[in-house]
Order: sequence, then structure tokens, then C-alpha cells
Amino acid sequence: MEKLKVIWFQAGTCTGCTISLLNSSSIKVKNLLLDEIVPGKIISLIFQSTIMAGSGEKVIEIVKEESEKGNFFLVVEGAISTKDEGIYGKIGEKTFCEVIFDLAKKADGIICLGSCSSFGGIPKASPNPTGCKSVNEILEEKNIKKMLINIPGCPPHPDWFIGTISKIMTLNRIELDELKRPIDFYGKLIHENCLRRPFFDKGKFAKSFKEEGCLYLLGCKGPYTYADCPLREWNGGVNWCVKNNFPCLGCTEPEFIEKNIPFFKKKEIEKIGE
Ligand code: SF4
Ligand code: SF4
Repeated sequence: MEKLKVIWFQAGTCTGCTISLLNSSSIKVKNLLLDEIVPGKIISLIFQSTIMAGSGEKVIEIVKEESEKGNFFLVVEGAISTKDEGIYGKIGEKTFCEVIFDLAKKADGIICLGSCSSFGGIPKASPNPTGCKSVNEILEEKNIKKMLINIPGCPPHPDWFIGTISKIMTLNRIELDELKRPIDFYGKLIHENCLRRPFFDKGKFAKSFKEEGCLYLLGCKGPYTYADCPLREWNGGVNWCVKNNFPCLGCTEPEFIEKNIPFFKKKEIEKIGE
């Protein structure tokens, strides 16, 4: 049986990305961890602080031993604190930066799960007191070049992660957009497939949440947000933001959160997708 070793490192995170994955219903997380995801291949999760039983020095030693052997994927959840030599985020007496630099150099590839590790997300928003940055930013500054995949979202849909990792295990490659997001999940604008698009096209806009119509005037960021939420839906295909009468907040874009607030204010559209 072939194993894909995964070291899952949580930096400046609310743990929402982990919780989203634990809520996966299309494939349960126990299947992800125990069964063959693709024929003949399983995931071997070496380190994940939220769900693992072990703690302390022992598990840090295991990460060190396993990472020395190489042949693993690094998953990063959360933004990386860099201010004052990174003292605001530490694990095992090392700063987040030190841990990421060390593991990234040895990993076969890196998956940034969630908007914080992908683009900085909420921790990077002004005034950003701990100098948070995305994983890609800190690696570029150190000139560390590795295959890196961003799976943004606040949180990301569990299918986006499971689909990406399955594709890597099957084909050993995945097509990405210019922001390093898998095209399979981030290839189309929310606006292209939104169930309220006919209202938008007819110019029927809701001015309060009680009114019928497109939510653009109420702050919907769907016209420039790439994700498949309208087609995939959330919680096992039950619902998604606009279907729940709530504007898309643009949580998969680098502008989230800094440039997307106030959430319920119209943002001018420069260019709308098809
Ligand atoms: S602006 Fe938002 S609510 Fe209106 S059609 Fe586009 S995605 Fe849907
Ligand atoms: S609809 Fe927009 S805000 Fe909601 S989950 Fe999808 S990308 Fe994020």
C-alpha cells in the first residue's frame, strides 16, 4: 500500500479550516484517514494538532524524524506571524517562520488550506499587529521554491481539499490559476452560476434583506469571486451563502478581508465575468 505522508501545521488560525474538513459529508474524515482514497493509496497523517492524541516533545520529535526522511506533503493552516522575529507564534520553541522554512524545504509540495495561509486572510487585515503574511510571501522572501497550492476560503469547502489531495494522489499534478488555486474548484465566478443572476441581468436589486432580487447593492462580491459554491453548495449540498439570502463575502479572493469590508456595502464592479 502506497502512503502519502502529510504533516499538517497550524499557524495563526481559528481552526475553522480543520472544523470544515471534519464536517465533510461526501467523504467522511474517518474514510479520508483510514481508507484508500484512491485505489492502493492511503494518507498517513503524521501531525495535526487538533485531532491527534499525542502532544509535547514526543510529537515534535516524530515530526522532525519523519520530515528528515522527506517524501511528504506539508499542509499549512493559518497565517504566519513575522513581526519582532516571529515571537507571536511559536510551536516546539520555534517560531512559525522557522518551522515553515524547515518543513517547506524538505516537503514534496505545500498545500495552503484556507485564506489565512493562502493570502493572509483575517490575521493580515489592518492593523495586522503581529505582521502576519501568507506562506507564499514568506517563502518568496527566502527564495524557497516549492510546488505550492492555495485552497482559500474562510473556511474552504471540504471537497476543495479532498478533491485536490485525491487528484495529487491519482495524477501527481493539478491545474492551477494564476493565484495557485485549483481550476477544478476556483475556475468560475460565483456570479456566473448564481441562482439570482436573472435578477442582476434584469436590474432587479434587493435594497434590504426582505426584498426579492440580486444582492449586489447589499454588498455581494460574487461578480469577482472565483469558487464553485453555487454548484457544489455547502453542508453536503444543502445551501450556500446567496441561497441563504446572504451576499457572497468574497472569501476565496486575496482581497478578503481587508478590501471587502464593510461587507454589506456595494463595491463597484470594474469588470464582470460572463
Ligand atoms: S451579484 Fe451576487 S447575488 Fe447578484 S447575481 Fe451576482 S453573485 Fe448572485
Ligand atoms: S459564496 Fe462567497 S463568501 Fe460564501 S463560501 Fe462561497 S466564496 Fe465564500
